[in-house]
Amino acid sequence: MAEVTLFSRAKEIIPGGVSSPVRAFGSVGGDPVFIREARGAHVVDVTGRDFVDLVCSWGPALLGHAHPEVVEAVRAAAGRGLSFGAPTLAEVELAEAIRARVPAAEQVRFVSTGTEATMTAIRLARGATGRDAIVKFAGCYHGHSDALLAAAGSGVATQGLPGSAGVTAAAAGDTIVVEYNDLDALTRVFDEAGDRIAAVITEAAPANMGVVPPAPGFNAALRELTARHGALLIVDEVLTGFRVGPGGWLGLEGGYQPDIVTFGKVVGGGMPLAALAGRAEVMQLLAPVGPVYQAGTLSGNPLATAAGFATLRLADDAVYAHVDRRSVELQAAVAEALGAASVPHTIQAAGNLFSVFFREGAVANYEDAKDQDTEAFARFFHALLDDGVALPPSAFEAWFLSAAHDDEAMGRITDALPRAARAAAHS
Ligand SMILES: *Cc1c(COP(=O)(O)O)cnc(C)c1O
Repeated sequence: MAEVTLFSRAKEIIPGGVSSPVRAFGSVGGDPVFIREARGAHVVDVTGRDFVDLVCSWGPALLGHAHPEVVEAVRAAAGRGLSFGAPTLAEVELAEAIRARVPAAEQVRFVSTGTEATMTAIRLARGATGRDAIVKFAGCYHGHSDALLAAAGSGVATQGLPGSAGVTAAAAGDTIVVEYNDLDALTRVFDEAGDRIAAVITEAAPANMGVVPPAPGFNAALRELTARHGALLIVDEVLTGFRVGPGGWLGLEGGYQPDIVTFGKVVGGGMPLAALAGRAEVMQLLAPVGPVYQAGTLSGNPLATAAGFATLRLADDAVYAHVDRRSVELQAAVAEALGAASVPHTIQAAGNLFSVFFREGAVANYEDAKDQDTEAFARFFHALLDDGVALPPSAFEAWFLSAAHDDEAMGRITDALPRAARAAAHS
């Protein structure tokens, strides 16, 4: 197969053959699929094989791949120049569109990746409070900055790593890790160290250890506890923002206001763009107004802002209703297939995001999430891939749908599920 050759060639020149670890199929085995192009609900590999895609670029492709109007917006922007290193009208329009959907985003600063957004949010919280420590939850992933790699989800979870080599003891020591959904543990941490804590950072609804929704009232309790101790609340909506609904998870849940909220993935429409946003008083601490430094040569890039703005403009109520409906249908089909094959499983959802844990019983935190049959998942994954359905190559990731997942795409998935479920059942 040509891909074997290409993977070997890639590994000669790129560590692991990939630009981001989870793409290497490490936890499911086999060689990764090299993609040549993508359109709608489909991706096509370098040999011409077509797959119905449930990765959607790990979230950004809410409208489906290569939506003609988004591509045209990028093409038109490219014709006017690729990067200026100067402010643009398009940035202002995109920032206004974000604020219109997320009232907590009083001011917005654009960066290029979710990692930069959360890294800057942490620096901003430290600058605002004059404190060093931050609290994160085990299994939540916030990108790969030093402070946030401890007990992280996503690729770190997929590879079973406790964190990362190369993070200094000092950086790790300023990060306090608490089990997710455990308010008692968090309260004890604040009782002991409350005057050292700059911020609590949380995924709005965690989806990087599989989907583990916050217990009712959990996020509101985080707001109350941080406010009481003079710490900031950072809600990371890089994955959920503009995907689970027009206003992200904050729009679905309501009732509390974070100090800082981070965006990425959908907000860039498939281009490298992310943002941090929040209370004007806090955001005004960023340079050039305030003393917290942050900058970027390609920040607010005109092609990326064009893709993001076109995506938000097109992501109307009908798009969210479609993705919500497809999500419910797919969850039902997966449950039926796994049930028929007697494969232990639990499906959890947060809005239209869902994931399948190969275990019995609810998953409330990272400990629960890790306690599943990842080998059954690997067999399930490969059976689907053989039948032209591309799942995220990890048991710890959400499945992503789009507005382009039509009856034909759904039909291919539901046709493939029974055989995949039987493969999962038999080791
Ligand atoms: C993907 C993700 C990030 C990191 O974004 P990158 O653009 O990959 O750096 C941060 N937080 C959450 C919740 C994410 O899902």
